[in-house]
Amino acid sequence: MTKLKIIIVFGSKPNFDKDAFKYFFLSLNKLQDTYEFCFPDFDDYAFDEKITIFQSANKKLEDFVNNSTENYDYLIGIITSRFDNNYFFNATENSSIITTDIWDKYFSPPSLFEYLLHSIYCCLIYSQKTLPDREVSEKAKLICIGSHSDTRGCVADFTRNKFDDRIDIALGYICDEHKAEIIEIFGDEYLKETTIILERKWIGNIEEKNSVAYNLKHIFKFDINKDSGFNKTWIDKVKEKFYDLPADLTGEVLKVVLTALLTYFLIKFGLPPK
Ligand SMILES: [Zn+2]
Repeated sequence: MTKLKIIIVFGSKPNFDKDAFKYFFLSLNKLQDTYEFCFPDFDDYAFDEKITIFQSANKKLEDFVNNSTENYDYLIGIITSRFDNNYFFNATENSSIITTDIWDKYFSPPSLFEYLLHSIYCCLIYSQKTLPDREVSEKAKLICIGSHSDTRGCVADFTRNKFDDRIDIALGYICDEHKAEIIEIFGDEYLKETTIILERKWIGNIEEKNSVAYNLKHIFKFDINKDSGFNKTWIDKVKEKFYDLPADLTGEVLKVVLTALLTYFLIKFGLPPK
């Protein structure tokens, strides 16, 4: 069976661990039969502005990508700058663009990776791209999948209040109205595999050898239970080193560090007056 080729392009320089994210996302190629996800090898980025114009962004990304390749069925772009409105993403027939900007400031956890998973799947559902050999009924051709403004915990909630997206990601739920539309357009199997993916049990946990969570932690140093996914500051890296030590050793190391700091300040500023 021919899968749909979905290319994921970094529209601007990622402010997150892109290798860990690639591993996380490409794990989906083993879990479902609709999409073959891939990351094309581009040297440059289509966006460098601080604010991206929502209306023209998709055309800009498509022009950029089509200069190098047209070998894809659907295009997903990930940018770090914010849109000139309140949206997380813009999904159109041929491409979608998702920004990491709002997530960065307010929302982790869930991690950025889970936010991107949720958003990409929402865009793919909105795209209504089906497998080439699928017969689409006349009824399905009349359906235009969109969002609903009430919050149902559904992948396709509109989430004007952006905090509601945390609920949607945590739940991994598809409401009955969307289930019915998805079955009509994509079929039962697609609904089954998409539900499994959105529920995120496939990520596993860091104690379970060779699970996605285990490999993220041990190969890419990304703990999906507590790291946001964004690039770590030096303070994050120091904290990580302490967490990796056994608890009693952490206490000893902390004592040594505090003693060293105290000594430094006493030498620099002199002993306190008696
Ligand atoms: Zn829904």
